[in-house]
Amino acid sequence: MNNRLAPERSAVLAALDRIKDPETGEGLNAAGRVHGLTIRPDGRVSFTIDAPSALIDRYTEVRDAAEAAVRSVKGAAAATVVLTAHGGRSDARTVAPPSPQERRAEGVEGVGRVIAVASAKGGVGKSTVAVNLACAFAKLGFRTGLLDADVYGPSVPTLLGAVHSKPQQARGRKLEPVEAWGLRTMSIGYLVDPERAMMWRGPMATSAIRQMLDDVNWAPLDVLVLDLPPGTGDAHLSLLQRLPLDGAIIVSTPQELALADVRRGIALFEKTAAPLVGVIENMAWFDGPDGKRVHIFGEGGARRTAERHGAPFLGEIPLDPVLRESCDVGAPFVAENPEHPLAQTFIAMARTALANAEGGHKPAPSIRFE
Ligand code: ADP
Repeated sequence: MNNRLAPERSAVLAALDRIKDPETGEGLNAAGRVHGLTIRPDGRVSFTIDAPSALIDRYTEVRDAAEAAVRSVKGAAAATVVLTAHGGRSDARTVAPPSPQERRAEGVEGVGRVIAVASAKGGVGKSTVAVNLACAFAKLGFRTGLLDADVYGPSVPTLLGAVHSKPQQARGRKLEPVEAWGLRTMSIGYLVDPERAMMWRGPMATSAIRQMLDDVNWAPLDVLVLDLPPGTGDAHLSLLQRLPLDGAIIVSTPQELALADVRRGIALFEKTAAPLVGVIENMAWFDGPDGKRVHIFGEGGARRTAERHGAPFLGEIPLDPVLRESCDVGAPFVAENPEHPLAQTFIAMARTALANAEGGHKPAPSIRFE
């Protein structure tokens, strides 16, 4: 039996006010950063810290400090703090983001933001980009999850070198995600023989994805990255209408044929409620051993298509053997080489995508990898 007395709300807020807000220098609660504070009878405390998106990196430390401060309050058994971001300070004061509990009805319990990575066709590097973006979010200090929603071709276990991992489940509890490279991950590839999943009909695939969202113990996460199945057809439309996305990213290669696909992707996200937060051009060029840069699939097509449709462009990723090798050995490039310029490109893209998801999806400054 639990005889614990839940902590006083005022004691929790006072503890939070002893932490300085990096922007204003006030206490965290006094600065208007704390939202959706919930104190359960068993002493579990949860809330959201709403940070200005331009300073989001500095708030990951604040989040950790806030959790520690709340845990030390008399009666507190556990603290769950999710970081979200907003365009500016005035927003933070007036627009309270939903707390993890409030999001439960439509979103994923205890998850701050759900960002999907999509492509019209297979083989453009969507999963490679999704895995490396997830690692980039983790490098930025966000507690990050990765859900392989590509149930017909799950590649996340291979890309993470976790093909033999099995998610654990205590009786009556949710499934535990597989921890890999600092990410909490789930894939149908951990659960069933992928060949069996390939025979599933559309509704079964949709319900498998829904279950991996709802019946997995994701919380607490700041960001959950979804690696969507390739395609932009009706099956996707119905899938996306049921998924709670905060932002979608389209991955494309630069050639003309692929650009028609980008347009289809943009149209798909326009039809659903998912805000498009970025287009990424993958395999944009190849730097040969002689130092010459070759634009194998043409130049700048995805950027132009995005701009023409008013979609934010996040930047280009070159065709680089180091990326393919890291996929083959199951060691994500960004996790292993965070200081490398290519990893820094992914990290900059992750930061901009999140800022776009928070800030009304304004066109983002694009990043060029030199
Ligand atoms: P998709 O998810 O779109 O089907 P994958 O991410 O599985 O595509 O990538 C397909 C293949 O291309 C993989 O072998 C991967 O290692 C490779 N690849 C993807 N992006 C790049 C890149 N920028 N440079 C080199 N190889 C890449």
